[in-house]
Amino acid sequence: MRNVKLFTLFGIPLYIHITFLILPVLFYFNSGPKGVFLVLFVFACVTLHELSHSLTARHYGVQVRGITLFPIGGVASITSYPKKPGQEFLIALAGPMFNIIFTIVLFYPLYRLLGPDIMFRPSLRTWPNTFAYAFWINPMLAIFNLLPAFPMDGGRILRSFLARRLTFRRATEIAVGIGHFFALVFGIAGILQGNIMLVVIAIFIYMAASSEEFQVELMENIKETMGDGDSTSINRP
Ligand SMILES: [Zn+2]
Repeated sequence: MRNVKLFTLFGIPLYIHITFLILPVLFYFNSGPKGVFLVLFVFACVTLHELSHSLTARHYGVQVRGITLFPIGGVASITSYPKKPGQEFLIALAGPMFNIIFTIVLFYPLYRLLGPDIMFRPSLRTWPNTFAYAFWINPMLAIFNLLPAFPMDGGRILRSFLARRLTFRRATEIAVGIGHFFALVFGIAGILQGNIMLVVIAIFIYMAASSEEFQVELMENIKETMGDGDSTSINRP
């Protein structure tokens, strides 16, 4: 793991994983400056999404160690689980809410500026098409993150509902199981379409879902043997 620290936002350090640096170069050779603009815009949106989680978490007394951006998304590392399911629900919802609010605020002015023809034709052909492309990133991020499966925010929202009736461990197992199901669906779709990126995302989802289950089991075991344990690190996409 090689992380480079960029800057600190509201007291929360922002890191980028060294592999993230491949993206602007790749998009530059593919689409020129418009590609680089798109990468930086996605970078800013993912950062603000993670910051929304982080600030909500901190509001509930959950310590945030930092935000790390990977080529396929960001994670906010927190050092303990929120105490109540309702808090986990709000922390998980905060990220997608940022993307939804940004979409609503941006839609009308951009629609007036670009017109319907360009607004609904996102591409990297011209600058106006690129701005339309950038706009559609936020609703896409909101929908993807609200999938009710680990490691997406929707999985945490689902767990917070399940945890009201079930144990935390059982609620996690169910959300992780759905995460594995989505990973398989994405993986098969990626292989059938020859879409390497989708296969990579599927592997990432599968591993991250398993890791969540492992962390919860570890934490519950520490709790059982030591009374209470907040020593594991949790990564929140
Ligand atoms: Zn999120």
